[in-house]
Amino acid sequence: MPEMLASYIAGAWYTAPDEGTVVNDAATGEPVARVSSTGLDTQALVDHARSVGGPALRGMTFQARGAALKALATYLDANKVAYHELSLATGATRRDGAGDIDGGIGTLFAYSSRAKRELPDGYVLVDGDVESLGKEGTFAGRHVYTSLPGVVLQINAFNFPVWGMLEKLAPTVLAGVPTIVKPAGQTAYLTALVVRDIIASGALPEGALQLVCGGVGDLLDRLGGEDMIAFTGSASTAATLRGDDAVTARAARFNAETDSLNCSILGPDAVAGTQEFDLFVKEVGREITTKAGQRCTCIRRALVPEPAVDDVLSGLRGRLDRVVVGNPRSESVTMGSLVSLRQRDEVRDAVNALARAADVVYGDPMSVAPVDADPQRGAFMAPVVLLCDDVDRAEPHEVEAFGPVTTIIPYSEARDVGQIAARGGGSLVGSIVSYDPDFVRDVVLDAAPYHGRLLVLDRDCAGESTGHGSAIPQMVHGGPGRAGGGEELGGMRAVRHYMQRTGLQGSPAVIAALTGDS
Ligand code: NAP
Repeated sequence: MPEMLASYIAGAWYTAPDEGTVVNDAATGEPVARVSSTGLDTQALVDHARSVGGPALRGMTFQARGAALKALATYLDANKVAYHELSLATGATRRDGAGDIDGGIGTLFAYSSRAKRELPDGYVLVDGDVESLGKEGTFAGRHVYTSLPGVVLQINAFNFPVWGMLEKLAPTVLAGVPTIVKPAGQTAYLTALVVRDIIASGALPEGALQLVCGGVGDLLDRLGGEDMIAFTGSASTAATLRGDDAVTARAARFNAETDSLNCSILGPDAVAGTQEFDLFVKEVGREITTKAGQRCTCIRRALVPEPAVDDVLSGLRGRLDRVVVGNPRSESVTMGSLVSLRQRDEVRDAVNALARAADVVYGDPMSVAPVDADPQRGAFMAPVVLLCDDVDRAEPHEVEAFGPVTTIIPYSEARDVGQIAARGGGSLVGSIVSYDPDFVRDVVLDAAPYHGRLLVLDRDCAGESTGHGSAIPQMVHGGPGRAGGGEELGGMRAVRHYMQRTGLQGSPAVIAALTGDS
C-alpha cells in the first residue's frame, strides 16, 4: 500500500489511522499515495492559526512579511526538481508542470517584490486620503485596512496543486493572516511535498500555514466572521459551501473561483492569411492541449464568423494533428493525461451532452492511442473539437467539459458577438482576436461586465502576450456569475482582500498618529 499523506496541524505531522483513499498516477494507474483526514482535530487547527500563526504574522511589518515571501520563494526554487518529478504523476507534462510549479514560485517572487516597492514598513494600510468631517477641521476620517484576526481556509481544485496554493498564500502572508490549505485529494501528494518544504524552510512563522490532506470534517463549523474561505473548484461545491452556516449564519467571508465557459472571439477582419487568424488558431489549439484542457481559463467556446469556420477548422486540424498524447515522462509527448479515470469519464459525459447540440468535427472522445502508456490504465483523451451551428442552443454556453475540448460557434452578425459571449453567464477570461479597433471596442463594452479578464490579441502585442489562459499576479483572476463572483490576484488589491476595511474617525492628530507609519 502506498504511504498515507500526513496533515500538518498545530506544529506536528498527523497521519490518519485508517486506510484512506488510494490515489493513482494519472498516466500509469500505479498507486501514488493514500489520503485521509480521519481523526483530525479541527479545533486545534483553528486555535493554532488564531493563537500562534496570526499573532506571529501580525507582529511582522509588511516589509518583513514581503522578505519572508522572498526567502520562501528562493528556498522552493532551489528544491523544485523534486516537485517537477512528482508533478508527472498528475498527468501533467514538464511544460504543464512549469506553469504550476514555476508559476507558483514566480507568484511568490512577484508579491514579495511588489511588497518591497508598494507596502509600508508598518502594520496598517490606508485607503484614500484623510477626509475632513467638520467645519472647524478638528474632526477627520480615513479608511484603514488591518489584518483579519482569523484564518484563511483555502479549498483548492486538483489542477494546480502548487500554483493554486501559492497564489493564495502570497497575498495572505502579506495581509498577516494564517492559512489552512486543503488540496483536492486527487493531487494532494504534490501540495503536501511542497508544504513539507515550506515548513522545513523556516521562512514563515509557525502557524502561518497548516495542511489538511483529506476531507475538512467539521472544520467549517469552527469558522466565523473573522475568517475567510477561499474556494477554487466546481460551481456545485461552491454552492454547497456558500450555503453553509459558516457563511450564511456566521458571515465567514467567502471567495469562489469556479468553472467557466470562457470564449475566444475571432474578429470578422481576421480572415485566413492575416496574423490575427494565425494567432487565434494557435491560441485555441494551445489552450485545449495545455494541461490536457484542465485549466479553468481554457477556451471552451470559439466564436468564429460564419465565413471563416472552414478555415479555422482546417487550421486547428493542422495543429492538433501534431499533438502527441501519452505518458508525460516520454520525451516525445506534448499532451499528458487527465487527472484520473473518473475525470476522463466526466469529460466524456460532458462531450456527449455537448454533442446533443453540436457535431464532433475533430477527435474521438472515446479512443486514443497514447505513447508509452496503457489507454485502459491512464486517463488519456484525444483533443476534441465540436461545431455548433445552432446559435440558439444552450449547451455550449452551459456544459463545461473540463478536458481537451472546445466548441466552435459560428456567428453571423458582428454586433451580436458580445451578447453571445455573455451567454456563458460570467467567465474568468475572454479573448478578442482582431485588428479592427471599432469591432474590438464594441465587443469589449458588451463583454467586459461578464468577464474578470479580457485579452485583446493582435499583431502588435502577440510577441509579449502572456496568452489567453494564464492567470498572472498583476491582473485579476476571477469572474462574475458562473465563474463564482470572486476575485484573486490583480496586484496588491489581493492583499486588501484578506484584511478588514475600517473607517477610522477622530482628530486629525490622532488619525495621523495611527496611520503615520502606513
Ligand atoms: P470540486 O469537486 O468542486 O473540488 C474542489 C475542492 O473542493 C477539492 O479540494 C474538494 O476536495 C473540495 N470539496 C468538495 N466537496 C467539498 C465539501 N462538501 N466541503 C469542503 N470541500 C469540498 O472541483 P474539482 O472537480 O476538483 O475541480 C474541477 C473544477 O474546478 C472545474 O469545474 C474547474 O472549472 C474548476 N476550477 C476553477 C478554477 C478557477 O480558478 N476558477 C481553477 C481550477 C479549477 P476533495 O478533492 O477531497 O473532494
